[in-house]
Amino acid sequence: MTEGGFRLLFGSGPVDLLVISPHPDDAEIGMGGTMALLAQRGRRVGILDLTDGEPTPVGDPPRRLQEAREAAEVLGVCWRGCLGLRNRAVVPDLEARWLLAGWIRRLRPRTVALPYWVDYHPDHVAGAQLGEAACFWARLSRSDIPGEPHRVQRIVYYYSIHLRDAHRPAFLVDISKTVATKLAALRCYRSQLDPAVRGPDVPVTAEDLEVAARYWGWLARTTHAEPFALRTPLLLKDPLATF
Ligand SMILES: [Zn+2]
Repeated sequence: MTEGGFRLLFGSGPVDLLVISPHPDDAEIGMGGTMALLAQRGRRVGILDLTDGEPTPVGDPPRRLQEAREAAEVLGVCWRGCLGLRNRAVVPDLEARWLLAGWIRRLRPRTVALPYWVDYHPDHVAGAQLGEAACFWARLSRSDIPGEPHRVQRIVYYYSIHLRDAHRPAFLVDISKTVATKLAALRCYRSQLDPAVRGPDVPVTAEDLEVAARYWGWLARTTHAEPFALRTPLLLKDPLATF
């Protein structure tokens, strides 16, 4: 198998957290505030877009790459790449799994973030399945996947704009200190989220996402938060901090 479709936007590995984003902007919509917070605290954060997100009504591939690069730089992300799968046609097949497992091996993240597994967009559902399968493959010995075997310690799931399907989140991250950075990153996606550029069919704006973050923050008695799901419960290593 070959890796001809991959594009490096910038940076180098390894990373502590790898956020797998079906389209450029999903990562920022779901967890831009959390990525900014972790980057500010010295964690190495990477974003791997599965597709370039095109076609869309007013976008084009060079413009989308530029927007994704700008947004990642605003957040303080240290690496961003595009796997080169086909937009609107992401399938969790063996070739895609092999490609993604190779990047997990090279980047060696402790934690991988995936889109929540229930979603209206088929690419997001496929992205969750593909990400889980690739984490499994990345740890296998005696395979033809590039790089050394690597075991991801935890998978977390962020939510897309199709939040109406969301179950109750497993935890919230307080982003009150980085919500402004999240909004600044979202505003880089002019071709997708700016009604003045995209027109009246814009699916969501940065302002809408600020309201969503304020709702989750209100639940937790802070100003802004981002919700996450888990398949397996979190272990509290130090229960004294919680009880
Ligand atoms: Zn998407």
